[in-house]
Amino acid sequence: MPQFEITTWLLCLLPRLWPRVRQFISDLFGIDSATIADDQERGKDIRLACFIGLPVSTFFAVFNLTSGFTTLGLIEVVAVFLFLLPAYFLSRSCRLLLLAESLVMFCVTLINVALFHYGGIDGTGVYWIFSLPFISFFVAGQRRGWFWSFCFFLLLLFVNPSVEFTQGQLGQCLFGVLFYTVIAASFNLLRVRFEAKLHRQVEEKTADGKAYLERLQFLAKNDELTGLPNREGILALLDDELGLRRGDSGTLVVIYLKLVRIVELINIVGTEQGGILFAQIVANLQGAVHCRGKVGRLGRDEFIFFFCCPDLDLEDPDWLTSVLGAGFECKLGNQTVNIEYVAGVCVHEDETSAAIILRKAEQAMLAAKAVQRDFFVYNADNDQKFTYHHLLFGKLRNAIQQNHLEMYYQPQVDLHTGRPTGAEALARWTDPEEGPIPPIYFIPVAEQSGLIFPFTRWAIATAIAQLAKWRNDGLDLGVAINLSARNLADTNLVAYIEGTAANLCVPSEKITIELTEGVFLDISQKASDVIRQLHDKGFKISIDDYGTGYSSLSYIKGLPVNELKIDQCFVKDIMESRSDSLIVSSTIDMALKLGLEVVAEGVEEAHIASQLRAFGCLVGQGHYFSRPMSAEVFGQWAQEACAEKVE
Ligand code: C2E
Ligand code: MG
Ligand code: MG
Repeated sequence: MPQFEITTWLLCLLPRLWPRVRQFISDLFGIDSATIADDQERGKDIRLACFIGLPVSTFFAVFNLTSGFTTLGLIEVVAVFLFLLPAYFLSRSCRLLLLAESLVMFCVTLINVALFHYGGIDGTGVYWIFSLPFISFFVAGQRRGWFWSFCFFLLLLFVNPSVEFTQGQLGQCLFGVLFYTVIAASFNLLRVRFEAKLHRQVEEKTADGKAYLERLQFLAKNDELTGLPNREGILALLDDELGLRRGDSGTLVVIYLKLVRIVELINIVGTEQGGILFAQIVANLQGAVHCRGKVGRLGRDEFIFFFCCPDLDLEDPDWLTSVLGAGFECKLGNQTVNIEYVAGVCVHEDETSAAIILRKAEQAMLAAKAVQRDFFVYNADNDQKFTYHHLLFGKLRNAIQQNHLEMYYQPQVDLHTGRPTGAEALARWTDPEEGPIPPIYFIPVAEQSGLIFPFTRWAIATAIAQLAKWRNDGLDLGVAINLSARNLADTNLVAYIEGTAANLCVPSEKITIELTEGVFLDISQKASDVIRQLHDKGFKISIDDYGTGYSSLSYIKGLPVNELKIDQCFVKDIMESRSDSLIVSSTIDMALKLGLEVVAEGVEEAHIASQLRAFGCLVGQGHYFSRPMSAEVFGQWAQEACAEKVE
């Protein structure tokens, strides 16, 4: 039966709908509703109501006074001046908001009751009373809006309307007030809900923004991975420490720590394991500092920490090891890895800032790195050296980038014929401000930074290109190129030299690679592989500055070497010093027996050249033949030297 079905359906639906209906009623009457509008907004709403109410009421007050509705007009004037105007000013004070709101409502209620009572022209004033519910909900809010609307309705019941209403019209009018009250409450509810939603969204976004801001503020002073203070953070902490220092606090020690090969290790084990590794290193550092100081992380592999030490003996070479240990022992799965470090130490002595102490500690670390020591204590005497070193680094980088370097060539001469057999390529750098800077200054700077790689590539390309040019000009020469120990770590070096020589059609046996004796003394497997590869490709390998190391050829047993260059410090004095003469003659002897070619460096006079010849040395290099020359001058010199000797 359909009637039965509808009833059942409704009965089923009602329990489900009831919570919503109850919620709606509760919202409509403003029960439990929290006011989200703050005092400022409430004040604004009151002022807006006054702002509209003041001109409208004043206009009608004047209108009614001039149209013969004196009482009505006077009530409006009194309401405006006694209630509305003060309400406008009172709404500016948060504590008086309720009073201001009540004054507005009192004014509106009074005027509307008066309109109902007096009606105005043809009783048309009565239509205005329907505005009251809207005004009351707007000004007084959801809950108090009902209160004022209801008070108004009650008042209407007791007021005698001047308009001729029939019983039905009066009922309709009163019913209309109730109806508009519900409509106004519903509209206001819509407004409140919309505002609440907006408020919620703003709150959410603000919370997100706040969290983001807090994170940014944290990251501005802390390292993301370890949570330790970063450069900014540690500088602030160090500055605080300096400010709080008293005479009895002990010596303040600041240590700048660079971990050795950690970046490479993380590249191998991955970032996740890297994080585990760092956590252990940080724990180690914090353990070392204990509660006496602070630890910070400056870069990927750089840490800083400071602490106060009552009894510090900086002369003791083991003091840092006693604080930190020889390295950090970390566990990666089942394996133990020992992370080494290089440290720079700065002991705070005078009233300097944290930034200066940090810079000094960093300088000391760089100095330790340069001399391959575990740590170095900052020393003011080294300051100038450091500054110059860094200045030179910047300048050299620019010089390489802008191609401001020049290659000079010093002849290597056949001691029997006097003809040049080749040239040693020697880099020259003239700085626009400082003038010529000798290689003994800038080569170490390049070696200690990564600049040695682009620099050497430039040297190789320039020297081989020059050799190709001379050979095209009919000069049958070779070229010797100096390499640094670090170059042997460049895995693309062999391919680069081979490619350059092949592109310029220079036979590889015309190119000699000079490596100082030091390189051979402490050579890694990787470096000896590079030497072997170069030799296999036909390039000649020469031991430069022979005699400055162990002066024993045992280290070349396993290495393919073609040539020995006897260092100039022995050659220069062979005429005066019997021991030097002996060293040179026996070295030549031994080298020849080992099948090596010999070049004597530092030949400054003719009789040195003849003596070397007498010892069996075939090639000499030195000022006696010529100083290093520019490519152009060398070309002319070589042409003349070859022609002379032919004649
Ligand atoms: P080196 O390879 O032993 O070069 C020989 C040095 O002795 C050159 O100094 C040369 O000018 C100097 N010399 C040559 N004959 C005489 C002489 O009769 N008497 C004296 N007193 N000196 C003589 P230079 O050009 O100042 O170079 C110094 C060092 O700088 C070179 O020693 C070499 O180790 C390094 N070097 C120069 N150019 C390069 C380069 O392109 N790459 C690398 N890695 N090192 C370079
Ligand atoms: Mg050399
Ligand atoms: Mg040399």
